[in-house]
Amino acid sequence: MSNITICIHGGAGTILKEDMTPELEKAYLDALQTALNAGYAVLEEGGTAVNAVKAAVVVLEDNVLFNAGKGSVFTKKGVQEMDAAIMSGIDLEAGAVSGVRSVRNPVVLANEVMLHSNHVFLSGKGANDFAIKQGIKLEPDEYFFSQFRYDQWKSLRDSDNYSLDHTHHHLDELMRDKKFGTVGAVACDVNGNIAAATSTGGMTNKKYGRIGDSPVIGAGTYANNQTCAISCTGHGEPFIKAVAAHTVSCLMEYKGMTLQDAMEETVMHKLKNMDGEGGMIGVDVQGNFSMLFNSAGMYRGVKNDKGINEVAIYGK
Ligand code: ASP
Repeated sequence: MSNITICIHGGAGTILKEDMTPELEKAYLDALQTALNAGYAVLEEGGTAVNAVKAAVVVLEDNVLFNAGKGSVFTKKGVQEMDAAIMSGIDLEAGAVSGVRSVRNPVVLANEVMLHSNHVFLSGKGANDFAIKQGIKLEPDEYFFSQFRYDQWKSLRDSDNYSLDHTHHHLDELMRDKKFGTVGAVACDVNGNIAAATSTGGMTNKKYGRIGDSPVIGAGTYANNQTCAISCTGHGEPFIKAVAAHTVSCLMEYKGMTLQDAMEETVMHKLKNMDGEGGMIGVDVQGNFSMLFNSAGMYRGVKNDKGINEVAIYGK
């Protein structure tokens, strides 16, 4: 029996208590708890870490509050293009998709890529064709619509003020507007196998087929039984350049660091020095976990068989 553990996140950024209503705060915490329970139930029944992270992420994708699946942000052209990845630490099998439309649960499609495509990463129209071939659930555009994300996009769409502006001032504004809000999960199952999954609508007003770190194996998502399973959230460009998730794994593998120390080094030093605002969640095969961010807040939760069951939003 291993130490079954699941951690989830629903995005990091300038999430401040003063910007939140009690109702909205409760809605976020309830949603996180529901996702945590869904993932944990899989682990408790002896299910795999891969199935646990998939189950938790599906719940978050189905919730309009988060920028993944239903409620994804709008691109410059006013549509949703979603990215997702999943990875299994036991065999380093991985599946990812980018720029997919109409797919109800991009993480389910990523899992299908991992299991049945002979490939790791599918994009755009091809990924959608594969979804249809595999009988993945599709939804009409209205399904993904949310007034909140639409208004966010409306305030940006006619300007060139889109999400890739790197100036600090602008990044702060973006974060405050919660244009980040990716979801993810990492888990350790009863057999001591670990897995990670991440899903996102990306950044509001993105164009030219922009893809962030979330579906990029090693950047936003990584799992390896020798080291750790990691799911990231934050400003995707620096996370890609830092190869963030894999950096944590390397620090553990080559420097012998603990999960906690490796994540600290990556989030609080490496990413911070690159203006990589955001955070990540991680587990190892002992069921040790960490949820770290260099931003004001990160929607997050953890549940394990030692009686820990917590959801939180703001910094300590
Ligand atoms: N990392 C994601 C991206 O850059 C955004 C997020 O985490 O919310 O697409």
